[in-house]
Amino acid sequence: MRTASLLAALTAVLTVTTACGSGQAGPAGAQGGKTDITAAMYPLQWLAERIGGPDATVTALTKPGVEPHDLELSPAQVAGIEATGLVVYVKDVQPAVDEAVEQHAAGRGLDVASLVKTIPSSAGEQGEGETGDAAHDPHVWLDPSRMAVIATKLGDRLAEADPAHAKGYRDRAAATVADLTTLDGEMSRGLSGCSSTAIVTSHAAFGYLADRYKLRQIGINGIDPEAEPSPARLAEVAKVAKQEKVTTIFSEALVSPKVAEVLSTEIGAKTAVLDPVESQPANGDYLSAMRQNLSALQTALGCS
Ligand SMILES: [Zn+2]
Repeated sequence: MRTASLLAALTAVLTVTTACGSGQAGPAGAQGGKTDITAAMYPLQWLAERIGGPDATVTALTKPGVEPHDLELSPAQVAGIEATGLVVYVKDVQPAVDEAVEQHAAGRGLDVASLVKTIPSSAGEQGEGETGDAAHDPHVWLDPSRMAVIATKLGDRLAEADPAHAKGYRDRAAATVADLTTLDGEMSRGLSGCSSTAIVTSHAAFGYLADRYKLRQIGINGIDPEAEPSPARLAEVAKVAKQEKVTTIFSEALVSPKVAEVLSTEIGAKTAVLDPVESQPANGDYLSAMRQNLSALQTALGCS
């Protein structure tokens, strides 16, 4: 297993070397006059591509369809982080990225959670096997209004780093903010006047969404989607979900729905998918994935 991944990494390094040999690659941090941005996970890739536009080259560390929390970096990806102009990431989501930024990109990492008002990890709602040491909940991208703040600040940061293209970055940041503000308005309206406000989710990714739209998240797992909840935690969630007359247990596309299915059978509820948008959706983008989430929430919560 280890040998195989090492071989794959070596192959990746060799491929990059070949590309350099053919004269494609530019100097460190800039490819053909463009700002080089490394995005740790999909929502940040989406932001960086929108705001960077034709003035930036965006490299995504997490490939589509990959659950990002347990991401391991190849030597080629670490080398890319060492050479990039800016790493956009969220601290405490992907330990491998945190470590690589600390060791290889000091001063070039932008932790987007540091740009917005954070909320504590829902420690009281977490079961066993949590990382638990994160002071705040890192899932800031699930609130479009916080995403809009991040968009503006990312635009400013890119404008400062590459003054020749400052207007482009700021204009595209403003257009992104407009789209996020429209989404935020739709979600505010769509999630007011619901008959329930309790959402049971497989991992506690939706704290900021709940914070913004006055919902209450009951996370079966903590911030690690792969953690197995203890029987005691499952029983506790089942009890609360019954009290709250929860109709739907949410699972997510990239994590086994087994736990959600067990729980929904136990309390006689349905299951539905709520996307933490940590990976690139199979179709569409951040905005359309959030609109699908809105629709799933409206059905589950009985919103008029
Ligand atoms: Zn998560």
